[in-house]
Amino acid sequence: MSGFLKIAIRNLLKGPTTDPYPFGDTFIPQKLRGKLKVDASECTACRTCEEVCPSGAIKITKNEGAYVHTTWYNTCCFCGNCEFFCPTGAIKLTTDFHTAHFQDEKYSFVTVAVIKETECKNCKTKFVPPSEALLKRAYNGIDIDLDELKLYCPECRKKIAFERLHLWLRH
Ligand code: SF4
Ligand code: SF4
Repeated sequence: MSGFLKIAIRNLLKGPTTDPYPFGDTFIPQKLRGKLKVDASECTACRTCEEVCPSGAIKITKNEGAYVHTTWYNTCCFCGNCEFFCPTGAIKLTTDFHTAHFQDEKYSFVTVAVIKETECKNCKTKFVPPSEALLKRAYNGIDIDLDELKLYCPECRKKIAFERLHLWLRH
């Protein structure tokens, strides 16, 4: 049997090798840069991602008592700058590649996260709760209740943290 015939028979017996997608699963590379996910509980609405985005795909707007973080897939080029520069790790690229959309959906095909403000336990000022990851980094090794600290605005938090730190250093 000729070599060609052997290959043809072997391939016929193996069946189709093309990807069954969209009727079945498909291979997704681990490092694929797909849709973005924003963890509203870690986002501090600091606007760093908006600043570093080269394509203007991120907009953060202030509404009554909350910040709205919107990402437009019509302009996002999946460069990963937002994830790289986010100080809290709140924004991440996922492997969800379903970003194709019709032109008339360009303003609605978005990812939205709502970051709610809260009221300071002490001075009643409205503020965005701090990121747990940042608090842990800032007060690493210091005996301080981070859950309690989260209830205060940045100004009150600074004063309370300073007092606790002072007490902690004296013991
Ligand atoms: S996602 Fe990160 S960089 Fe963007 S506003 Fe939130 S905390 Fe700041
Ligand atoms: S991946 Fe790049 S283009 Fe897309 S939102 Fe983030 S910074 Fe902007």
